[in-house]
Amino acid sequence: MDDKFMLMIPGPTPVPERVLLAQAKHLIGHRSGEFSQIMAEVTENLKWLHQTQNDVLLLTASGTGAMEAGIINVLSAGDRVLAGNNGKFGERWVKVCEAFGIQVEAIEAEWGKPLDPEAFRAALEADTAKTIKAVIVTHSETSTGVLNDLQTIARHVKAHGEALMIVDAVTSLGACSVPVDEWGLDVVASGSQKGYMIPPGLGFVAMSDRAWAAYEKSTLPKFYFDLGPYRKNAAKNTTPFTPPVSLFYALQVALQMMKAEGLETIFARHERLKRATRAAMKALNLPLSAADEFASPAVTAVMPQGVDAEKIRSTLRKQFDIAMAGGQDHLKGKIFRMGHLGFVSDRDVLTAIAALEATLAQLGAEGVTPGAGLAAAQAALRA
Ligand SMILES: *Cc1c(COP(=O)(O)O)cnc(C)c1O
Repeated sequence: MDDKFMLMIPGPTPVPERVLLAQAKHLIGHRSGEFSQIMAEVTENLKWLHQTQNDVLLLTASGTGAMEAGIINVLSAGDRVLAGNNGKFGERWVKVCEAFGIQVEAIEAEWGKPLDPEAFRAALEADTAKTIKAVIVTHSETSTGVLNDLQTIARHVKAHGEALMIVDAVTSLGACSVPVDEWGLDVVASGSQKGYMIPPGLGFVAMSDRAWAAYEKSTLPKFYFDLGPYRKNAAKNTTPFTPPVSLFYALQVALQMMKAEGLETIFARHERLKRATRAAMKALNLPLSAADEFASPAVTAVMPQGVDAEKIRSTLRKQFDIAMAGGQDHLKGKIFRMGHLGFVSDRDVLTAIAALEATLAQLGAEGVTPGAGLAAAQAALRA
């Protein structure tokens, strides 16, 4: 059926109608007073979302561009860094470092398992010469639905004294608390199509004073992503290059909606949706990729047995107009991922679970009791 499409993937995420309509407005010049007012408001609200007094800069880029900017603005070729790698995104930051001649040591965990903070502690404590310049961690690893223990890793980084804490918060920001100042996070990158409830196209980088001090020493080549000019222009409520003005309209409205809901309520909603989703999958005998203790609030990865994950996805798409994500790399065909990030409500999760049950029945999945997933999800939503 036309126009009934429902996105249940971990990005792009659903966009509220109010935000969609805001984007339809006529453009304004980005050097106008009117634009500066929007820029001032969104910058203030971005600090609120990041729980920081630091600069939060806006780039015309996806989340990867924001992460690349964060990395190349504080490091130099040959610098030694540690990078957590327990999934597709952790792996990406290792590749970005390699592309820029940064000497990167991966601290790995199996896909579906969390990074071990002890491994970071051991490597940082062994570095008495203080040669480690940064530690890079993906907070919510979207490829497997694992939430890494960023708080503990950041504590070990702080104890080291020299290394910067660089964070991919793309699917944790706006889903669970990421208190940038309290945890001492130096560089925090995110992207608009995830927890922000707006379309893709904007990247965000929060930079601490320590990060700016490292910026002064960084010698990697950069121009469009040189954060210095972004900072200078932000102080005058403008941007160095033409910004995606329509996305700024969208961001303004989305952040107003987030402020009206409140941080604690937003985090509690994501926690509830995560619990309901996981309870439903368990009641349907569908094994989960990540254990309860370190499950991402943004996405749940499911490994169906005896039914093809891609068949489940295509049936959901064709019969129910619901999109869920597939697996990446070696997990392709083995898992499907249900997003519950951003503009997602209890109703959306109940609808998706009901459609999933119908899909499993149609595909002849064994061990599935009709209604069991819905009952478990409802109970979790009430709790
Ligand atoms: C989506 C995502 C990114 C950014 O991907 P882009 O396609 O560049 O926006 C980075 N890290 C994580 C964990 C993500 O989920």
